[in-house]
Amino acid sequence: MRNLIYVLCCLSCFYCSHAWAQSYSLLLKGGHVIDPKNNIDGIMDVAISGDTIVQVAENISEESAEKVINVQGLYVTPGLIDLHSHNFQGTEADHYLSNGPSALAPDGFTFRCGVTTVVDAGGAGWRSFPLFKENIIDPSKTRVLSFLNIVGEGMRGGVYEQNLDDMDARMTALVAQQNPEVVGIKVAHFSGPEWDPVDRAVEAGEIANIPVMIDFGGHTPPLSLEELLLQRLRPGDIFTHVFAHVNGRVPVVDEKGKVRPYVKEAQTKGVIFDVGHGGASFLFKQAVPALKSGFYPNTISTDIHTGSMNGGMKDILNLMSKFLNMQMDLPSVIAATTWKPAQVIHREELGHLSVGAEADVAVLNLREGQFGFIDSQGYRMDGTQKLECELTLRAGQVVYDLNGLAGTPWQSEASSSSTGH
Ligand SMILES: [Zn+2]
Repeated sequence: MRNLIYVLCCLSCFYCSHAWAQSYSLLLKGGHVIDPKNNIDGIMDVAISGDTIVQVAENISEESAEKVINVQGLYVTPGLIDLHSHNFQGTEADHYLSNGPSALAPDGFTFRCGVTTVVDAGGAGWRSFPLFKENIIDPSKTRVLSFLNIVGEGMRGGVYEQNLDDMDARMTALVAQQNPEVVGIKVAHFSGPEWDPVDRAVEAGEIANIPVMIDFGGHTPPLSLEELLLQRLRPGDIFTHVFAHVNGRVPVVDEKGKVRPYVKEAQTKGVIFDVGHGGASFLFKQAVPALKSGFYPNTISTDIHTGSMNGGMKDILNLMSKFLNMQMDLPSVIAATTWKPAQVIHREELGHLSVGAEADVAVLNLREGQFGFIDSQGYRMDGTQKLECELTLRAGQVVYDLNGLAGTPWQSEASSSSTGH
């Protein structure tokens, strides 16, 4: 009896493994894979089965795949993670980026740029998170995560964001602990002289064991940037809008074009410096000297909303291209939009192409030509490189395909079948 079971078992294993060898659902063939987590930067094939990466190697047999997509001449990267995005879209008046029309429904603006994960930066607070989850997080194909605003009402703008009575560390932490989509706490737009919003966000972050993201500035009187970076924030907390120069906030680059020593010290200590370009938070006169002196952002994010996407920011690929043209190398730019943000939000299962990872993949074209890039004050930088998204996979499915790489020529369909609708 035992022998019979053994034989049956072996037979089934034989058929299983045979079937397995044929069972890659998708093979991305011949692309230049950049996967910073796994130190891959070269020509490789990527095999996917269902929603999972199953092999990354040179010369994977085409016969093993149901579908082969030729991506020669293109870059294959993990699906991009936008660490600072605004996606709590709604139709309520007087709601700004919290269930208001300035925020963007994710799927319309993510996949066409290779983005498969967004982190909404403070649109929802603990009071409004259930609505955000129901209306946006759950129905979106894009993976939507959240920095929960320390303000219970979220990013409603105006007086709502000034209400210290609505900044409850305990309730914020509680909602964060109950919802795995919450990956951090956000502070933004507070203009009073108090440190309370920062301190309460850090307190909530301590309780829930997640980082805080700080949009700092506009305080009357101004609060000390040095104190924020070296005393109030913890290693792993995030300072966004790093290359801004706005009223009420000291810029990271001083009048002589030098990055302030305490800014470098804070980065060494582990504070994360995030781009968060937005409508008003990115200046070449800050970024260019900073990069020239060797101070690079840890993460590159858009701060996308209806204002910034129609201004100098446009989209994450345009923003990444700015950094390429400022001589940040491509693997570093990809790392700052994939593996680094995944680590920052403690979601290490994301942002790479390891075997077993969910198959979120971007296929990018790096175009050569004459291009112009605009900062938040309308100043232009000329450049010669520009990234474009050719193809995006979310959980193994083609969700964007600019030139029909995954498509079959229409003539072959016409000759093989006349029954389609
Ligand atoms: Zn923002």
